[in-house]
Amino acid sequence: MTRKIYINGTLLDQQDAKISVLDHGLLYGDGVFEGLRSYGGKIFQLEEHIERLWQSAEAIELEIPMSREAVCQAMADTLRVNDIQDGYIRLIVTRGAGTLGLDADKTSNSQVIVIADSIELYPDEFYEKGLEIVTVSVMRNHPEALDARVKSLNYLNNVLAKIEGSKAGCVEALMLNHKGEVAECTGDNIFLVRQGELLTPPVEASILVGITRNIVMRLARDAGVQVRETSLTKEDVYAADECFLTGTAAEVVPVVTVDGRTIGEGRPGPVTRKLSEAFHKLARS
Ligand code: PMP
Repeated sequence: MTRKIYINGTLLDQQDAKISVLDHGLLYGDGVFEGLRSYGGKIFQLEEHIERLWQSAEAIELEIPMSREAVCQAMADTLRVNDIQDGYIRLIVTRGAGTLGLDADKTSNSQVIVIADSIELYPDEFYEKGLEIVTVSVMRNHPEALDARVKSLNYLNNVLAKIEGSKAGCVEALMLNHKGEVAECTGDNIFLVRQGELLTPPVEASILVGITRNIVMRLARDAGVQVRETSLTKEDVYAADECFLTGTAAEVVPVVTVDGRTIGEGRPGPVTRKLSEAFHKLARS
């Protein structure tokens, strides 16, 4: 079935959904995006994603040429026309077409794009047995170069980290920040469990403030688990009792080895399983 893609108010057949080669989104990665999930036809954490998109846009001085309500309607329409109940939505806003120079003032016609598709899930095995990941040498962008909270179209450092991880045979890779602290994975946030306490790097560690991360912290507190945002080293990861990753697509996925070191007992631990179940319940409720 041909998918319909939304661009600036029109739903187009996939093969006709095109934007200018002079769009600064293409030329410079100049734009912002969100990845959302729909469960049973309803978009999960819609307001949170919209808020993050608007904050990302504001941080890069990009004006979104539509109201929040109109963007939500565009996503709902795209899901409906493609008959998607449980799926993934990519929401993109580019700076628009301009000249070959960097000048943002010379761009016009910002593009708002919505792509909805079925979701490519990790195989069940990853959730049952846990992931093996590695730390890569590609570090997170320096926060004074680009604030990690901005979900910009320029994902090159994450792409390079992912390539390095893939070469090591891993589907996810752990990235450190410029201080050598643990930050996050290429498309997921990281959590550790140590002596019953849930630990995760703080916002200042150059992380994307994940929406799944925020929910998991809340679910943990609700379940009586102590949660602390604190700077972590690779050694903290190696010594943890449990480790897991969170993200819109991955949800909650256990990690059992990092750099060949076994985490805890080398299988998904009880806190990970409890939070994963709580997350599933919430998302599917
Ligand atoms: N970190 C990065 C770099 C990401 O791209 C993402 C989203 N794929 C996440 C973390 C997880 O964020 P969320 O839970 O909002 O999907």
